[in-house]
Amino acid sequence: MSVPAYEDSRAFAEAEDRRDPLARFRAEFNFPRDKDGLGPVYLCGNSLGLQPERGARYVRDELANWADWAVDGHFHSERPWTSYHKHAVAGFCELTGSKPREVIAMNTLTVNLHVLMASFYKPTSERYKIVVESKAFPSDRYAAASQLRLHGHDPEEGLIEWRSANDDGYYDHDDLEAIVREHGDGIALLLLPGVQYYTGQVMDMQRMCELGREAGCAVGLDLAHAVGNVPMQLHDWAPDFAAWCTYKYLNSGPGAIGGAFIHERHLTPDNLDQLHGWWGNAEETRFEMRKRIDPADGAELWQMSNPPILSMAPIMASLELFMEAGLGALTAKAERLTGYLAWLIERRFAGRIGTLTPERERGCQLSLIVRDHSLNGKAIFDRLCELNVTGDWREPDVIRIAPAPLYNSFVDVHEFAERFERALERG
Ligand SMILES: *Cc1c(COP(=O)(O)O)cnc(C)c1O
Repeated sequence: MSVPAYEDSRAFAEAEDRRDPLARFRAEFNFPRDKDGLGPVYLCGNSLGLQPERGARYVRDELANWADWAVDGHFHSERPWTSYHKHAVAGFCELTGSKPREVIAMNTLTVNLHVLMASFYKPTSERYKIVVESKAFPSDRYAAASQLRLHGHDPEEGLIEWRSANDDGYYDHDDLEAIVREHGDGIALLLLPGVQYYTGQVMDMQRMCELGREAGCAVGLDLAHAVGNVPMQLHDWAPDFAAWCTYKYLNSGPGAIGGAFIHERHLTPDNLDQLHGWWGNAEETRFEMRKRIDPADGAELWQMSNPPILSMAPIMASLELFMEAGLGALTAKAERLTGYLAWLIERRFAGRIGTLTPERERGCQLSLIVRDHSLNGKAIFDRLCELNVTGDWREPDVIRIAPAPLYNSFVDVHEFAERFERALERG
C-alpha cells in the first residue's frame, strides 16, 4: 500500500475537502454552537452523533401526524405507525450485511442484549459461562453478570475475561482461541464487541463467530461502535444475535431506539424462545386479540411493544443519509480522514501523545493517550473543551477522537491538531 501523501497545512485540508465526494452531507447536520468566538470541532460521533436536520423534520412530521390523525395515524398517515419500524430494515441490512428478516429496530441496546440473551443464553449446570473482553463496556458486563445471577450462577466464577495482550488494551484473537480451548464445554455464550469502545480496535468478528461455533456456544455481538463505522457481513459470519444503538455513528439522537439481529437459522416457525408481547404477533392478526400468539415472521417476533415513533423517526432520516452517501464511499473517506488524524498526531506530537488504536484494525476512532508523564491528560482534555473541541474523555487517561466521514471534514481534523497543540502548550 502506498503511503498516503498528507500535508500539515490548512490549505491542504481545504483542498482535500474540495475533492471529497461526500462533502455535501456536512450541510445536512446541525453543529453545536461557537464558544468564545471559536467554531466547533466536533469529533465525538462515536458517543453522540450530530443532529441531521432531516431527522428533526421527521420528528416534526410525526408530531403533526399525531395532531392531525390521532389514533388513525396507526393506519392512515403517510408512514403508518403500525409498520413504521419496517422503514429501518433496508438501512440496517446494508449497514450490517443482513437479510431483511434478520433485523429489527426496537428497544435500546442494553435492553436488547437482555431480550436476546433470554433467547440465546440457555445455561445448563455444565455449560453456563459467558466470555466478555476485560475492558468490556460496563453495561455489557453488568448485563452478562446479571444473566448469570438470574440463572443461579456466581458471576465471579461464571464471567470469563478475555484479557488484552498488552497495556494498550490490544485484544489478540489467539488469546480468545486459547480461552475457548481451555473452557470449551463450559462456555454458553461469547458476548463480544464488533469494535472495542475504549481502544477503537476493530475486532475480527468472523473469527469470533467461528470460535464460538467450534466451542458449540452461542455468539452475541455488541455493535454499538461498529454500526455506521465499519462494513459487516453478519448473515455470512453468522453470530446467533447482535445488537446496536443508533445514537453514536447513526446520528439518531440521545437514547434513540436500537437495532437487533437474529440469524436466519433461528427464524423457524417452531422457535418460540422469546419474551413475547403483542407487537411480536403477525401484523395481519395482531388486532384480533387472540389468546395465543400468532408469531410474526422473522426478527419481528422479538418485538414486544408498539414502538416509540418519535424516537424512531430520526433513525429513518439517518439511514436515508447513509444510503445516499453509500457505505463504500464512507469507509473510503473514513480511512483517509482518520489516516490524516493519525498522521498529524504522529508528526506533531510523537513521543508525547500515543495512540492505542491499532493501525490496521481501526475504523473512525483514535484513542489517544498521554505518554509524556509530565503532562496531565485530564487538564489537556479540559483545555480542549475550552477551545470548543468535542472529543471524549475515558478514565483513566484516554481521549477518544472520532472523525465521522458523513459530516466531518479534513479541515476539522487539521483544526483539531492546531487546537490540540495549543492545549498541550498550556496543559
Ligand atoms: C454505548 C454503549 C452502550 C450503551 O447502552 P445503552 O443501553 O444504549 O444505554 C452499551 N454497550 C456498549 C459497548 C456501548 O458502546
